[in-house]
Amino acid sequence: MNVPVNEPVITKAAKAYVADALETGWVSSAGPYIDKFEESFARFIGVNHAVTVTSGTTALHLSLVALGIGKGDEVILPDFTIVSCMNAVLYAGAIPVFVDIDPETYCMDPALIEAAITEKTVAIMPVHIYGHSCDMDPILEIAQKRNLLVIEDAAEVHGAEYKGRKCGSLGTVSAFSFYGNKIITTGEGGMVCTDDDLIADELRLLRNLAHAPGKRFWHEEVGYNYRLTNMQAALGLGQLESVTTLLGHKQWMGEQYTKQLSDIQGIVLPVTKAYSTNVYWMYGVRVTDELGISRDDLTARLRERGVDTRDFFIPLSSQPIAQDFGPAHCPVSAEVAATGFYLPSGLALTQEQLDYVCDVFHEVVSA
Ligand SMILES: *Cc1c(COP(=O)(O)O)cnc(C)c1O
Repeated sequence: MNVPVNEPVITKAAKAYVADALETGWVSSAGPYIDKFEESFARFIGVNHAVTVTSGTTALHLSLVALGIGKGDEVILPDFTIVSCMNAVLYAGAIPVFVDIDPETYCMDPALIEAAITEKTVAIMPVHIYGHSCDMDPILEIAQKRNLLVIEDAAEVHGAEYKGRKCGSLGTVSAFSFYGNKIITTGEGGMVCTDDDLIADELRLLRNLAHAPGKRFWHEEVGYNYRLTNMQAALGLGQLESVTTLLGHKQWMGEQYTKQLSDIQGIVLPVTKAYSTNVYWMYGVRVTDELGISRDDLTARLRERGVDTRDFFIPLSSQPIAQDFGPAHCPVSAEVAATGFYLPSGLALTQEQLDYVCDVFHEVVSA
Protein backbone atom coordinates (compact mmCIF):
# COMPACT_ATOMS: atom_id res chain seq x y z
CA MET A 1 0.00 0.00 0.00
CA ASN A 2 1.10 3.58 -0.67
CA VAL A 3 -0.02 6.30 1.70
CA PRO A 4 0.79 9.87 0.59
CA VAL A 5 1.58 12.42 3.27
CA ASN A 6 -1.25 14.60 2.06
CA GLU A 7 -4.15 14.10 -0.32
CA PRO A 8 -6.88 16.75 -0.46
CA VAL A 9 -10.62 16.21 -0.78
CA ILE A 10 -12.39 18.49 -3.25
CA THR A 11 -16.06 18.69 -2.36
CA LYS A 12 -18.97 18.49 -4.81
CA ALA A 13 -20.00 22.06 -4.07
CA ALA A 14 -16.45 23.28 -4.74
CA LYS A 15 -16.41 21.60 -8.17
CA ALA A 16 -19.84 23.02 -9.03
CA TYR A 17 -18.86 26.57 -8.00
CA VAL A 18 -15.62 26.44 -10.00
CA ALA A 19 -17.55 25.23 -13.06
CA ASP A 20 -20.01 28.07 -12.54
CA ALA A 21 -17.19 30.63 -12.29
CA LEU A 22 -15.80 29.34 -15.57
CA GLU A 23 -19.17 29.31 -17.31
CA THR A 24 -19.98 32.88 -16.36
CA GLY A 25 -16.60 34.08 -17.66
CA TRP A 26 -15.57 35.66 -14.34
CA VAL A 27 -12.11 34.14 -14.27
CA SER A 28 -10.06 36.99 -12.79
CA SER A 29 -10.36 38.81 -9.51
CA ALA A 30 -13.76 40.40 -10.17
CA GLY A 31 -16.83 38.21 -9.74
CA PRO A 32 -19.29 37.20 -7.05
CA TYR A 33 -17.31 34.38 -5.41
CA ILE A 34 -14.66 36.72 -4.02
CA ASP A 35 -17.20 38.60 -1.87
CA LYS A 36 -19.05 35.44 -0.92
CA PHE A 37 -15.88 33.66 0.15
CA GLU A 38 -14.63 36.67 2.11
CA GLU A 39 -17.98 37.10 3.89
CA SER A 40 -18.31 33.41 4.74
CA PHE A 41 -14.74 33.17 5.96
CA ALA A 42 -15.09 36.31 8.12
CA ARG A 43 -18.20 34.79 9.70
CA PHE A 44 -16.44 31.46 10.24
CA ILE A 45 -13.48 33.07 12.03
CA GLY A 46 -15.59 35.68 13.83
CA VAL A 47 -13.93 38.82 12.48
CA ASN A 48 -15.27 41.93 10.75
CA HIS A 49 -13.11 41.66 7.64
CA ALA A 50 -11.54 38.91 5.57
CA VAL A 51 -9.44 39.98 2.56
CA THR A 52 -8.45 37.38 -0.04
CA VAL A 53 -4.87 37.34 -1.33
CA THR A 54 -2.74 35.01 -3.46
CA SER A 55 -1.07 32.95 -0.70
CA GLY A 56 -0.29 32.64 2.97
CA THR A 57 3.09 34.18 2.30
CA THR A 58 1.58 37.25 0.61
CA ALA A 59 -1.04 37.44 3.39
CA LEU A 60 1.81 37.86 5.89
CA HIS A 61 3.65 40.35 3.68
CA LEU A 62 0.57 42.47 2.97
CA SER A 63 -0.27 42.46 6.70
CA LEU A 64 3.12 43.89 7.60
CA VAL A 65 2.94 46.58 4.90
CA ALA A 66 -0.63 47.54 5.80
CA LEU A 67 0.46 47.94 9.42
CA GLY A 68 3.24 50.30 8.31
CA ILE A 69 6.06 47.94 9.26
CA GLY A 70 9.22 48.62 7.28
CA LYS A 71 12.89 49.43 7.25
CA GLY A 72 14.67 49.12 10.59
CA ASP A 73 11.67 47.73 12.44
CA GLU A 74 12.10 44.49 14.38
CA VAL A 75 9.50 41.72 14.33
CA ILE A 76 9.64 38.92 16.91
CA LEU A 77 8.77 35.50 15.51
CA PRO A 78 9.30 31.86 16.48
CA ASP A 79 12.44 30.04 15.33
CA PHE A 80 10.37 27.00 14.41
CA THR A 81 8.11 27.79 11.44
CA ILE A 82 8.04 27.91 7.65
CA VAL A 83 10.33 30.36 5.86
CA SER A 84 7.30 32.42 4.71
CA CYS A 85 7.18 34.10 8.13
CA MET A 86 10.75 35.34 7.91
CA ASN A 87 10.45 36.15 4.21
CA ALA A 88 7.46 38.40 4.82
CA VAL A 89 9.53 40.36 7.34
CA LEU A 90 12.44 40.60 4.88
CA TYR A 91 10.18 41.65 1.96
CA ALA A 92 8.98 44.52 4.15
CA GLY A 93 12.57 45.56 4.81
CA ALA A 94 12.22 44.77 8.51
CA ILE A 95 14.42 42.63 10.79
CA PRO A 96 13.41 39.18 12.07
CA VAL A 97 14.18 38.37 15.72
CA PHE A 98 13.85 34.70 16.60
CA VAL A 99 12.58 33.29 19.90
CA ASP A 100 12.53 29.66 21.00
CA ILE A 101 9.45 27.46 21.24
CA ASP A 102 7.50 25.51 23.82
CA PRO A 103 8.73 21.88 23.79
CA GLU A 104 5.19 20.47 23.93
CA THR A 105 3.18 22.62 21.49
CA TYR A 106 6.11 23.65 19.23
CA CYS A 107 4.65 27.19 19.31
CA MET A 108 6.47 30.38 20.35
CA ASP A 109 7.31 30.37 24.09
CA PRO A 110 5.65 33.51 25.53
CA ALA A 111 8.10 33.56 28.46
CA LEU A 112 10.95 34.41 26.07
CA ILE A 113 9.36 37.36 24.30
CA GLU A 114 10.14 40.16 26.79
CA ALA A 115 13.88 39.50 26.56
CA ALA A 116 13.76 39.83 22.77
CA ILE A 117 12.09 43.26 22.80
CA THR A 118 14.26 46.29 21.95
CA GLU A 119 13.40 49.92 21.20
CA LYS A 120 13.08 48.89 17.53
CA THR A 121 10.49 46.16 18.14
CA VAL A 122 7.14 46.93 16.53
CA ALA A 123 5.36 43.58 16.30
CA ILE A 124 5.10 39.98 17.46
CA MET A 125 4.21 37.22 14.98
CA PRO A 126 2.87 34.17 16.85
CA VAL A 127 2.55 31.09 14.61
CA HIS A 128 0.08 28.35 15.52
CA ILE A 129 1.78 25.06 14.69
CA TYR A 130 0.38 21.82 13.19
CA GLY A 131 -3.19 22.52 14.29
CA HIS A 132 -2.59 23.69 17.88
CA SER A 133 -2.91 27.26 19.16
CA CYS A 134 -0.14 29.33 20.70
CA ASP A 135 -0.76 30.39 24.30
CA MET A 136 -2.14 33.75 23.18
CA ASP A 137 -3.11 35.52 26.43
CA PRO A 138 0.46 36.13 27.66
CA ILE A 139 1.46 37.19 24.13
CA LEU A 140 -1.45 39.64 23.84
CA GLU A 141 -0.69 40.97 27.32
CA ILE A 142 2.94 41.72 26.43
CA ALA A 143 1.83 43.29 23.15
CA GLN A 144 -0.62 45.56 24.93
CA LYS A 145 1.82 46.52 27.68
CA ARG A 146 4.64 47.27 25.22
CA ASN A 147 2.39 48.76 22.52
CA LEU A 148 3.25 46.14 19.88
CA LEU A 149 1.20 44.90 16.93
CA VAL A 150 0.28 41.22 16.71
CA ILE A 151 0.36 39.40 13.36
CA GLU A 152 -1.16 35.98 13.95
CA ASP A 153 -0.09 33.28 11.50
CA ALA A 154 -3.11 30.99 11.41
CA ALA A 155 -2.16 29.11 8.21
CA GLU A 156 -2.23 25.73 9.98
CA VAL A 157 -5.26 26.15 12.23
CA HIS A 158 -8.46 26.85 10.25
CA GLY A 159 -11.20 26.28 12.81
CA ALA A 160 -8.98 25.77 15.88
CA GLU A 161 -9.91 27.63 19.06
CA TYR A 162 -7.99 29.32 21.85
CA LYS A 163 -10.09 29.51 25.05
CA GLY A 164 -13.27 29.33 22.98
CA ARG A 165 -12.23 31.97 20.45
CA LYS A 166 -11.16 31.12 16.91
CA CYS A 167 -7.49 31.30 16.06
CA GLY A 168 -7.17 34.11 13.54
CA SER A 169 -9.48 36.40 15.53
CA LEU A 170 -7.01 37.25 18.28
CA GLY A 171 -4.26 39.40 16.73
CA THR A 172 -4.29 42.88 15.20
CA VAL A 173 -4.41 40.96 11.92
CA SER A 174 -4.15 37.28 11.04
CA ALA A 175 -2.95 35.39 7.98
CA PHE A 176 -4.35 32.17 6.53
CA SER A 177 -3.08 29.97 3.69
CA PHE A 178 -5.24 27.94 1.30
CA TYR A 179 -2.41 25.89 -0.22
CA GLY A 180 -3.37 22.37 -1.33
CA ASN A 181 -2.41 20.72 1.95
CA LYS A 182 -4.22 23.20 4.21
CA ILE A 183 -7.57 22.43 5.87
CA ILE A 184 -9.39 24.73 3.44
CA THR A 185 -7.79 24.99 0.01
CA THR A 186 -8.16 27.21 -3.05
CA GLY A 187 -5.24 25.54 -4.82
CA GLU A 188 -3.02 28.48 -3.99
CA GLY A 189 -4.40 31.35 -1.97
CA GLY A 190 -4.57 33.19 1.31
CA MET A 191 -6.61 35.52 3.52
CA VAL A 192 -5.93 38.36 5.92
CA CYS A 193 -8.45 38.79 8.73
CA THR A 194 -8.93 41.83 10.96
CA ASP A 195 -11.58 43.63 12.99
CA ASP A 196 -10.11 47.03 12.12
CA ASP A 197 -11.94 48.92 9.32
CA LEU A 198 -8.97 51.12 8.42
CA ILE A 199 -6.52 48.22 8.22
CA ALA A 200 -8.99 46.32 6.04
CA ASP A 201 -9.26 49.32 3.67
CA GLU A 202 -5.47 49.53 3.46
CA LEU A 203 -5.20 45.78 2.76
CA ARG A 204 -7.75 46.05 -0.08
CA LEU A 205 -5.93 49.05 -1.52
CA LEU A 206 -2.49 47.44 -1.36
CA ARG A 207 -3.50 44.07 -2.80
CA ASN A 208 -4.76 45.77 -5.97
CA LEU A 209 -1.84 48.01 -6.97
CA ALA A 210 -2.91 50.86 -4.64
CA HIS A 211 -5.00 52.80 -7.15
CA ALA A 212 -5.79 56.02 -5.29
CA PRO A 213 -9.38 56.03 -3.98
CA GLY A 214 -11.51 57.80 -6.57
CA LYS A 215 -8.61 58.16 -9.02
CA ARG A 216 -7.80 55.04 -10.98
CA PHE A 217 -4.26 54.69 -12.35
CA TRP A 218 -3.03 57.23 -9.82
CA HIS A 219 -0.69 55.84 -7.16
CA GLU A 220 0.37 57.44 -3.90
CA GLU A 221 1.74 54.20 -2.50
CA VAL A 222 3.53 51.17 -3.92
CA GLY A 223 0.86 48.48 -4.21
CA TYR A 224 0.98 44.82 -5.15
CA ASN A 225 -0.95 42.44 -7.34
CA TYR A 226 -1.94 39.94 -4.66
CA ARG A 227 -5.47 39.37 -6.03
CA LEU A 228 -7.07 35.93 -5.68
CA THR A 229 -9.18 34.85 -8.68
CA ASN A 230 -12.93 34.30 -8.68
CA MET A 231 -12.26 30.64 -9.66
CA GLN A 232 -10.09 30.13 -6.59
CA ALA A 233 -12.63 31.86 -4.35
CA ALA A 234 -15.32 29.56 -5.80
CA LEU A 235 -13.21 26.56 -4.82
CA GLY A 236 -12.64 28.01 -1.35
CA LEU A 237 -16.32 28.78 -0.78
CA GLY A 238 -17.30 25.24 -1.75
CA GLN A 239 -14.69 23.76 0.61
CA LEU A 240 -15.70 26.11 3.42
CA GLU A 241 -19.32 24.93 3.26
CA SER A 242 -18.05 21.50 4.39
CA VAL A 243 -15.62 22.76 7.01
CA THR A 244 -17.39 21.00 9.88
CA THR A 245 -17.07 17.66 8.10
CA LEU A 246 -13.45 18.35 7.19
CA LEU A 247 -12.60 19.26 10.79
CA GLY A 248 -14.45 16.16 11.97
CA HIS A 249 -12.23 14.02 9.76
CA LYS A 250 -9.12 15.68 11.24
CA GLN A 251 -10.44 15.01 14.75
CA TRP A 252 -11.03 11.37 13.91
CA MET A 253 -7.54 11.09 12.42
CA GLY A 254 -5.86 12.62 15.48
CA GLU A 255 -7.77 10.43 17.91
CA GLN A 256 -7.09 7.26 15.89
CA TYR A 257 -3.35 7.89 15.58
CA THR A 258 -3.07 8.68 19.28
CA LYS A 259 -5.03 5.58 20.24
CA GLN A 260 -3.04 3.25 18.01
CA LEU A 261 0.45 4.69 18.62
CA SER A 262 0.36 5.53 22.34
CA ASP A 263 1.76 2.11 23.35
CA ILE A 264 5.08 2.80 21.59
CA GLN A 265 7.81 3.75 24.07
CA GLY A 266 10.23 6.39 22.83
CA ILE A 267 7.99 8.58 20.70
CA VAL A 268 6.25 11.81 21.63
CA LEU A 269 2.73 12.31 20.27
CA PRO A 270 0.92 15.67 19.85
CA VAL A 271 -0.50 17.30 22.97
CA THR A 272 -3.69 19.33 23.30
CA LYS A 273 -3.45 21.97 26.02
CA ALA A 274 -6.53 22.93 28.05
CA TYR A 275 -6.51 26.38 26.40
CA SER A 276 -6.59 25.01 22.83
CA THR A 277 -8.45 22.66 20.57
CA ASN A 278 -6.36 20.66 18.11
CA VAL A 279 -7.40 20.48 14.46
CA TYR A 280 -4.44 18.18 13.61
CA TRP A 281 -3.42 19.95 10.43
CA MET A 282 -0.50 17.54 10.51
CA TYR A 283 -0.05 14.69 12.97
CA GLY A 284 3.49 15.33 14.26
CA VAL A 285 5.60 12.73 16.07
CA ARG A 286 8.98 13.07 17.77
CA VAL A 287 11.58 10.39 18.33
CA THR A 288 13.48 10.17 21.65
CA ASP A 289 16.69 8.24 22.47
CA GLU A 290 14.59 5.55 24.13
CA LEU A 291 13.25 4.44 20.74
CA GLY A 292 16.68 3.13 19.71
CA ILE A 293 16.30 4.25 16.09
CA SER A 294 16.90 7.72 14.68
CA ARG A 295 14.24 9.88 13.04
CA ASP A 296 15.95 9.56 9.67
CA ASP A 297 16.22 5.75 9.86
CA LEU A 298 12.63 5.46 11.02
CA THR A 299 11.20 7.62 8.24
CA ALA A 300 13.37 5.82 5.64
CA ARG A 301 11.96 2.47 6.76
CA LEU A 302 8.42 3.79 6.76
CA ARG A 303 9.01 5.05 3.22
CA GLU A 304 10.28 1.61 2.12
CA ARG A 305 6.88 0.28 3.16
CA GLY A 306 4.99 2.99 1.27
CA VAL A 307 4.32 5.34 4.19
CA ASP A 308 5.19 8.90 3.15
CA THR A 309 6.26 11.33 5.89
CA ARG A 310 7.74 14.84 6.13
CA ASP A 311 10.44 16.02 8.47
CA PHE A 312 9.63 19.00 10.69
CA PHE A 313 10.69 22.53 9.70
CA ILE A 314 14.40 23.41 9.80
CA PRO A 315 14.85 26.31 12.29
CA LEU A 316 14.83 29.77 10.73
CA SER A 317 17.95 30.87 12.61
CA SER A 318 19.93 28.06 10.99
CA GLN A 319 18.96 29.04 7.44
CA PRO A 320 21.69 30.42 5.15
CA ILE A 321 19.47 33.45 4.39
CA ALA A 322 19.21 34.26 8.13
CA GLN A 323 22.89 34.54 8.92
CA ASP A 324 22.82 38.37 8.96
CA PHE A 325 20.45 38.38 11.92
CA GLY A 326 22.86 37.23 14.57
CA PRO A 327 23.13 33.94 16.40
CA ALA A 328 19.85 32.92 18.00
CA HIS A 329 19.87 30.70 21.06
CA CYS A 330 16.96 28.35 20.37
CA PRO A 331 17.90 24.89 21.67
CA VAL A 332 14.31 23.60 21.88
CA SER A 333 13.60 24.50 18.27
CA ALA A 334 16.84 22.75 17.20
CA GLU A 335 15.97 19.59 19.13
CA VAL A 336 12.35 19.46 17.91
CA ALA A 337 13.44 20.07 14.31
CA ALA A 338 16.03 17.28 14.45
CA THR A 339 13.71 14.65 15.93
CA GLY A 340 10.26 15.38 14.48
CA PHE A 341 8.30 14.35 11.44
CA TYR A 342 4.65 14.07 10.48
CA LEU A 343 2.59 11.13 9.36
CA PRO A 344 0.10 11.04 6.45
CA SER A 345 -2.51 13.57 7.51
CA GLY A 346 -4.54 14.50 4.45
CA LEU A 347 -8.30 14.88 4.37
CA ALA A 348 -8.56 11.89 2.01
CA LEU A 349 -6.87 9.53 4.51
CA THR A 350 -8.99 6.38 4.96
CA GLN A 351 -9.35 4.07 7.97
CA GLU A 352 -7.58 1.37 5.97
CA GLN A 353 -4.62 3.65 5.22
CA LEU A 354 -4.41 4.89 8.80
CA ASP A 355 -4.46 1.32 10.17
CA TYR A 356 -1.74 0.40 7.68
CA VAL A 357 0.44 3.36 8.77
CA CYS A 358 0.09 2.35 12.43
CA ASP A 359 0.80 -1.35 11.70
CA VAL A 360 3.93 -0.50 9.70
CA PHE A 361 5.04 1.91 12.45
CA HIS A 362 4.76 -0.88 15.04
CA GLU A 363 6.61 -3.36 12.84
CA VAL A 364 9.46 -0.94 12.11
CA VAL A 365 10.06 0.06 15.73
CA SER A 366 9.88 -3.51 17.06
CA ALA A 367 12.15 -4.98 14.37
C1 LIG B 1 1.60 27.11 4.67
C2 LIG B 1 2.09 28.14 5.62
C3 LIG B 1 2.39 29.45 5.20
C4 LIG B 1 2.50 29.86 3.76
O1 LIG B 1 1.40 29.69 3.01
P1 LIG B 1 1.52 29.66 1.38
O2 LIG B 1 0.10 29.74 0.96
O3 LIG B 1 2.16 28.36 1.02
O4 LIG B 1 2.33 30.83 0.97
C5 LIG B 1 2.70 30.40 6.16
N1 LIG B 1 2.76 30.07 7.45
C6 LIG B 1 2.54 28.82 7.89
C7 LIG B 1 2.64 28.54 9.35
C8 LIG B 1 2.23 27.80 6.98
O5 LIG B 1 2.04 26.55 7.42
